[in-house]
Amino acid sequence: MRPVFRLAFGVALAWCLGFGSAMAAPPLVVVSIKPIHSLAASLLEGIAEPLLLVDGAQSPHSFAMRPSSSRALNNADVVVWIGPELEGFLAKSVSVLPDQVRVVSLLHDTPGLERLHLDEDDHDAAHDHHNHGAAGEEDLDPHIWLSPANARAIAAHLADVFSAFGNADRLSANAEALDRQLAELDRTIAQQLAAVSERPFVVLHPAYNYWVKAYGLQQAGVISPNPEQGASASHIADLRQSIAKQSAFCIFAEPQFGNRKVQALAQQLNLRAGILDPLGADIAAGPKAYLAILGAMAAALSDCLAQ
Ligand SMILES: [Zn+2]
Repeated sequence: MRPVFRLAFGVALAWCLGFGSAMAAPPLVVVSIKPIHSLAASLLEGIAEPLLLVDGAQSPHSFAMRPSSSRALNNADVVVWIGPELEGFLAKSVSVLPDQVRVVSLLHDTPGLERLHLDEDDHDAAHDHHNHGAAGEEDLDPHIWLSPANARAIAAHLADVFSAFGNADRLSANAEALDRQLAELDRTIAQQLAAVSERPFVVLHPAYNYWVKAYGLQQAGVISPNPEQGASASHIADLRQSIAKQSAFCIFAEPQFGNRKVQALAQQLNLRAGILDPLGADIAAGPKAYLAILGAMAAALSDCLAQ
């Protein structure tokens, strides 16, 4: 081959390969909840835009599927959810999806994920609140995204899943950038919460085991072991005792439920009231939502618990 021709051939080949990878069909990814959707959106920036099922102030514990959501699930390449322990509304739909839909159940599939069990105190209620997982995986706490270390494991797993659809270079660049952001977020929150880590607080529903463990916080109790039913009178009596004994400072509602009850309890018990939002009801969905959701949780805790 003459040098000029060889050069032209090389350019043409490179162009073909480049064109080929640019033309790789972007995957249609459907994700159940906003914090996980955010991790997927961050990984897929410049490649594809994942679809979010549970948006706004709805709770995944009590969500009702729309027909448009069912169609999206059936047409998806990848469906990402936590598992039946969190999104009970998805269990049936996920079990009847066409074979070509790759279903990722993060609570059960993610390598290196830290998994905690629901507190013994919440044990009985947990049987009503959460469906059971596979044998030997009973009473797992499904709120796995509430530690940045777990978010890093989830992001690594999703990057691996998405790599089946091409765009390898962009995907791995996005994955590296996201991992750095999550590590930075973890350090920032740890610094921010160190000042209030000795100050006990009460939360609305048993969602914060991962968060409390990651930052060494003092959770003094849970108002509603089951967020869809009220708390029993005897549970509230126990909680009052535990609040008094541990000198709790603050009590947190969630946008998804419970604000009236929390306000009433705060008044009766002379506690400050705040809002913790593990799902980011008021935060716009997208690549930055995860950072904003955990950042807002850290701010809410340090504001309410500060001297
Ligand atoms: Zn929950």
